[in-house]
This record gives sequence, structure tokens and C-alpha cells, in this order.
Amino acid sequence: MSDCKFFIPGPTWVRPEILSEMTKPMIGHRGAEFRDLFTRILANLKPLFGTAQDAFVATCSGTGLMEAALINTASRRVLVTVCGAFSARWFTIAQSLGLEADKIEVPWGQAIDAEELADHLISRRGHYDAVCITHNETSTGVTNDVAALTRTVRDESPDTLVLVDAVSSLGGIDVRFDEWGLDVCLASVQKGLALPPGIAVAAVSAQALARATKIPYRGAYFDFLAFKKHADDGSVPSTPSIPHFYALARQLDDIVQKETLEARFRRHRAMRDAAIVRTAPFATLAADREHASNTVSAFKPLHKTPDEIRAEMKTRGFTLGGGYGEWKESTFRIGHMGDMTLADVNAMLDVLTEVLS
Ligand code: PLP
Repeated sequence: MSDCKFFIPGPTWVRPEILSEMTKPMIGHRGAEFRDLFTRILANLKPLFGTAQDAFVATCSGTGLMEAALINTASRRVLVTVCGAFSARWFTIAQSLGLEADKIEVPWGQAIDAEELADHLISRRGHYDAVCITHNETSTGVTNDVAALTRTVRDESPDTLVLVDAVSSLGGIDVRFDEWGLDVCLASVQKGLALPPGIAVAAVSAQALARATKIPYRGAYFDFLAFKKHADDGSVPSTPSIPHFYALARQLDDIVQKETLEARFRRHRAMRDAAIVRTAPFATLAADREHASNTVSAFKPLHKTPDEIRAEMKTRGFTLGGGYGEWKESTFRIGHMGDMTLADVNAMLDVLTEVLS
């Protein structure tokens, strides 16, 4: 058991040994030391994404790479699949870039339906540059079946690219970039990867890079072709947050080599199950159980308000997440992701079940 008492759905608790990596001396980002560091990162980042294609690290939060994904792949129209507040963010960004954006939407708590997506794409075949999908909707605690949704896009609209937000899934839930046929998959590092916020990671397909060559005005900071050129040389286009790169290198070693992905995903499933089963007598899981996320759960309490519960937990030393967006007043959320252990979650649940009752 660690000393984790922090259970919001990101940023997550960070291990002291990761924080201490960030105090290492600076190095230049055009030299051999950085090249070695970056090579070490990519050797683990690619398996984490399940890809043999390109992977990039950008100094920005996840939203920056959502914008980058759209800038580099879309010039006309996109389709956004909306099932909560963060999936709706794709829509807002697309509109802010002057793209025509359509959406298919399901009620909060539900997952996107592949058949509905198929029907929509069939009625507008070849219409979209890209479809935007959110793997794990952090506002509701729902995990979408990205494999099935991507298959649908491939079947019904083969030239349409698939852009996936894995901000709150990567490192906690399996992502299989190549097997599922994704084109851009991005994540922040302050959730399942349990680093302090400040950088973001992405896998990018050859097809997405080919699309970028056809988009003349891709901006400068988020140009994927510049990321590709520099990555091939063991670097990044502009000065990165080097402390985060140290921390990411260490964390990926620990995740991929030491803990292993299989064990990590199993631990996340067990933490999710504990949270759902133990709160069940006192709170309703707000998400459809079949699609309940392994990294975050939203609950509607039966006997007290979410604010009362969070305040009582705070006085007992534990921080829980509040509701988000439409569910701000009616739910509280538990982030069960990153480096916390099942014992940490159970220790928090011992107290929470008292507070809830
Ligand atoms: N997408 C999802 C699913 C999220 O949960 C979040 C943040 O919580 C974001 C996008 C935005 O990420 P960032 O805050 O790193 O920009």
C-alpha cells in the first residue's frame, strides 16, 4: 500500500520516485543525451499504444493534441461521437478551427452505438475527413468500444480517418492502435500514466501523416510532419519540458517492463470492481454497467449530496472528484487509475462506505 489519498480522475497521485526524476539536471534537446532519453521513451511508448508506427511526445496538455489531431487530418468536415463533456470537446475544437462538424450523441452514461454510427456514415458516405472518438469518457465513467467503432468507420467510410482521445484510458485500459486501425490516438500523462500534468503523447498512423501532407496550413507548433522529422532524429520540434521527459522515461520503464501492461490493466479492473461493488448499497453507478470504465466511476449517492460526501471525505484525509458538466450537482467521481494500489482503493472505500451510509 502507498500513501495515496488522492482519488480524483486526474491529475492522479504521483509516486515520489517519479517526482524525483524531475529534479535531474537539464540537458539540451538537440544532443546525444536527449536522443538516448527519447529513444528509451519510444521503445516503451509504442508498445503501450500497441503500435509499430510513429509516436510523438508534445509539451502541452491532452487538449493540445486533440487540436493537433484535427489540424493535421481535417480540412472540411468531421463527425464527433458525443457521450459526455470530454467527447463534446472534440466538437468545440473542430468548430473553433472552422471545420464543419456534425455529431451523433447518446445520453450521458451510455456508450456510443456502432450501429448508429454505421447508419450515419452510410447516409453520408465519403463525407467526413475524420471521425472523433473518446475512448474513456471521464465525465461519466464510460468506456467506448473503440475497436468496434473503428471497424464501422473502416467498413462504411474507408477514407475517413479515426481520431481517438485516450486521455483517461492510456496506461489503465488496453489500447491497440495498429490492431484496431486507428489514425491518431492521444493522451495526457496526468491520468493513467500518473505523471504530473505538462506533456501529452500520441500515436500517428502512416495514413494520418500522408493526410497531413495534403493540408497546407497546419500551423507550426503542432505540425505532425515536423514531429515526424524530428522524432526520426531522436528529438522534438521545439524545446520540450525536459523534467517531464525524464519522468516519462522512468515511468514507462516501470509500466511496460516492471509491472507489465497485462498486470496493470488487471489491477485497474480490480480497483474498478472494488469501487462499484463496495459502494453499491449506498450509491448508484451513473454509467451503464456494461461499459463501466476501469479508470473512473461516477456515482449518484442515495442518502447524502455529493458535496456533503466529498467534504466529509476531505476531513477524513481523502480527496474524491466532483461531478462534471451536466452531472456536476448529482454525482461524485472516484478516479481509480495510475499508480495507486488495490489496497489504497480499499482503504479509501473503508472510509467512504462509512460516510455514504
Ligand atoms: N479528454 C478527456 C477524456 C479528459 O478526461 C480530459 C481531461 O480530463 C481531456 C480530454 C483534456 O485533457 P487535458 O486537460 O490534459 O487537456
